[in-house]
Amino acid sequence: MVSVQNTINMRDDDWRVELRGKLKAKDRSQIERVKMTEEDSGLRIRNNTEVNKGISLGEAMKEAQRCLDCANPACMEGCPVGIDIPRFIKNIERGNINEAIKVIKETNTFPAVCGRVCPQEVQCEAKCTYIKMKKEPVAIGYLERFAADYELENKLCFLPEINKRNNIKVAVIGSGPAGMSAASDLAKAGCKVTVFEALHDYGGVLRYGIPEFRLPKSIINTEIGNLKQMGVEFVKNFIVGKTATIDDLREEGYRAFFVGSGAGLPNFMNIPGENYNGVLSSNEYLTRVNLMSAGTPGFDTPVMRGKKVAVIGGGNTAMDSVRTARRMGAERAIIIYRRSLNEMPARIEEIKHAQEEGIEFLTLTNPIRYFADENGRVNRVLLQKMELGEPDSSGRRRPVVIPGSEYEIEIDLAVVSIGVSPNPILPQSMPDLSVSKWGTIQVNDETMQSNIDGIYAGGDIVRGGATVILAMGDGRKAAAAIDECLKMQAVEL
Ligand SMILES: Cc1cc2nc3c(=O)[nH]c(=O)nc-3n(C[C@H](O)[C@H](O)[C@H](O)COP(=O)(O)OP(=O)(O)OC[C@H]3O[C@@H](n4cnc5c(N)ncnc54)[C@H](O)[C@@H]3O)c2cc1C
Ligand code: SF4
Repeated sequence: MVSVQNTINMRDDDWRVELRGKLKAKDRSQIERVKMTEEDSGLRIRNNTEVNKGISLGEAMKEAQRCLDCANPACMEGCPVGIDIPRFIKNIERGNINEAIKVIKETNTFPAVCGRVCPQEVQCEAKCTYIKMKKEPVAIGYLERFAADYELENKLCFLPEINKRNNIKVAVIGSGPAGMSAASDLAKAGCKVTVFEALHDYGGVLRYGIPEFRLPKSIINTEIGNLKQMGVEFVKNFIVGKTATIDDLREEGYRAFFVGSGAGLPNFMNIPGENYNGVLSSNEYLTRVNLMSAGTPGFDTPVMRGKKVAVIGGGNTAMDSVRTARRMGAERAIIIYRRSLNEMPARIEEIKHAQEEGIEFLTLTNPIRYFADENGRVNRVLLQKMELGEPDSSGRRRPVVIPGSEYEIEIDLAVVSIGVSPNPILPQSMPDLSVSKWGTIQVNDETMQSNIDGIYAGGDIVRGGATVILAMGDGRKAAAAIDECLKMQAVEL
């Protein structure tokens, strides 16, 4: 176990001056960015262990020296929850990791998750001053992960202080990142929080979508355990809207509701042959493997395996699916994506890791029809080539069909990963709830309150498929508004 050097006890400004004095900006900018050790690509396609291995205390302290502690830290503008990035990094530079983790946790409830899955390269790191200097940005994501892992490995577990318990019952619907962060802040505020989860285990996409090789389940288990220690109660196999309605829960005394039910409804392309055996959604594929342990010795959950697997799409979900297929024994695992690599929404790191693992990329290519053998099992896909035209409403160049470019390839499994829609069960159980034409719950941006008093919502059920950090930010915003509203009600009584 590494001991934390916690000897300097100065006011922030004092030690910042002292650190600046130790090393000039020019020297700091000459330090090379740390490289994270990764599991060998030949080995990792045969197992499920985490690919990124993290950085050591020494590497973290050296990387922290690169940070210039800018007077106007642009990195913070890129962080959706506004972490005080230079303050946590300078604490790492001093060797005061306890303080670093506390700084991060002022605004981010689950840094071990965010340090692994947040797209830092387009958020905080994209804004780092070093980018303007045409140098690699400070490895903010690696440092966040380091501090969070340090806390977990050393069992420091800084549980937040709980305000005086008020015993007001609040229901959180869905245990994904939105629900978990709302539950954490509501418990901190003293409420009696119950999280209702439709599935048989907690964590939402963090558990059933993102594979072990990117986000180990032990991290989610620890975070759920911490919430339980804070007094949050969890109820599984409970579908709000079916097992009981929100009105039923109101009758049981719940005074406010946070809906974080996510966007887990898969989209399909509606092309011929999509209902053959062996064509399935990434949600189904990943849920079987990640949540229901298909493919793990000792578990008998069935899952279709393929030797020639096509994954349709270019987002994180597509990358997770294709890399899972490789680990499940695919000899040829192919991404089929209608735009080019430059437009791919997946994280750059995921694309790089997929390439290292031998994943083929058929870009500027779109499937238009599946074919099957006499047993109805998919055996070929008809593809057409695309080129890029003018930008569309998303700002990305529109893919345009190249006439006469069709060709077939042999496959025995296709995983469709072209986006998701909001989970409809809860909104459908509440006819008065205001929803958009896409099925997302409409809320006030400041408070996350829906059109119905006492019902708040956030995360993917409001945004459509978005990101973990945005879901967490919504959960926290809603929790603050719920707390405020409950306090006002208490004054009025
Ligand atoms: C495979 C995959 C990989 C991804 N990779 C990344 C990544 O690398 N980085 C990133 O930032 N984002 C990533 N995302 C997106 C990110 O995971 C989501 O934006 C985020 O999980 C949304 O959080 P949420 O809490 O709103 O919903 P979810 O995580 O979907 O959780 C919702 C929960 O609500 C439950 N639920 C639904 N309806 C009910 C009901 N009626 N009653 C009770 N419970 C209910 C569901 O079972 C689920 O557990 C990925 C998504 C997928 C699918
Ligand atoms: S912008 Fe980069 S160098 Fe400046 S404070 Fe943020 S991380 Fe440090």
